[in-house]
Amino acid sequence: MKHALTPERSKLLLEWDVRDYQITLDGTEEEHDAHRPLKDGGSTFSTILANLITLQEQDTYFSVALRVNADKDNSSRLRPLFDILAHQFGSDERFKMRFRPIGKWGGPNDEALTTFCGLDEEHSTLVQLHAESRVAGMHVESLAEDLRPSQVCYAARPYSFIIGSDGKLMKCTVVLDTLESNVVGKLDVSGRLDLNESRFVSWVKPHYAGDSTCQKCFFLPSCQGASCPLPRFVDERPCPPAKTHIQRTLRDIHTLEQDPERLIKRWPAV
Ligand code: SF4
Repeated sequence: MKHALTPERSKLLLEWDVRDYQITLDGTEEEHDAHRPLKDGGSTFSTILANLITLQEQDTYFSVALRVNADKDNSSRLRPLFDILAHQFGSDERFKMRFRPIGKWGGPNDEALTTFCGLDEEHSTLVQLHAESRVAGMHVESLAEDLRPSQVCYAARPYSFIIGSDGKLMKCTVVLDTLESNVVGKLDVSGRLDLNESRFVSWVKPHYAGDSTCQKCFFLPSCQGASCPLPRFVDERPCPPAKTHIQRTLRDIHTLEQDPERLIKRWPAV
């Protein structure tokens, strides 16, 4: 629905104080439209870009994360997209790049995806994309965001719900209603929340309180043991990569600030 952020709607949303947006562009026009066609096969890139430009004309505060989903296939072809975006939004701090790895989340297309081989390849490629877009002239969400206090997943927050089209209340946007415990209640037609308290609590309880390893961990103020509550359902601890690879994280934050060109030179040959 990103192409539906029409000038009329964005004006209304800003009036209602809705100011944080995430808009996905997965490449230049040809690549994005091939990855994200409309149901009838139609394109979306040019409409999304036009809507973003209209939003930019609003003389008020908002923030747009320009999200790019990357995998082994598209990551080396994204530079032209950064140039297009930098030309339009490079001097506007309200627009920042955000990079996320494409993952296999279930479904018939999973086998066709060329996802990264492990966390190391994923991290180094995303850091290089970060560096490339900076050098192109875009503002980019800092890797330091991953170290700030409260890297707690929205699913672990008590006021965050997904509302399904049938009124189902859910927490995790990955498993949706494929996991029974993720359906934590229902929103009835009068707008009343009918919560299943025990399921709800299993997402929002302070997970670190029953985990002695978390209680001793230097990363606790950031992660609170709940960077992703989903592994807790199978008794696993969700340590985020920013913690498990803290040295690399700190080194890359420093290099991206001081000398992003250095990271670009490490692009593998294609
Ligand atoms: S990083 Fe791992 S051990 Fe540390 S608080 Fe988070 S989940 Fe617990």
